[in-house]
Amino acid sequence: MLARADQLRQEQVTIGDALLALRQGRLGTCSACGEAIAFDRLKAQPMALRCLRCQASAETR
Ligand SMILES: [Zn+2]
Repeated sequence: MLARADQLRQEQVTIGDALLALRQGRLGTCSACGEAIAFDRLKAQPMALRCLRCQASAETR
């Protein structure tokens, strides 16, 4: 129950970030390097805020 609430909160944060990005006209653009995010990646994960390369380096850091 608690874990699910945490997960929901995390999803809300992610959606909030995406909405902010949309409002600032940078959805579909990597928030780290400014490069366009591959359309395939956006299709698989519409809330993606970083391109594959930056996401990978953020996860391995
Ligand atoms: Zn990037």
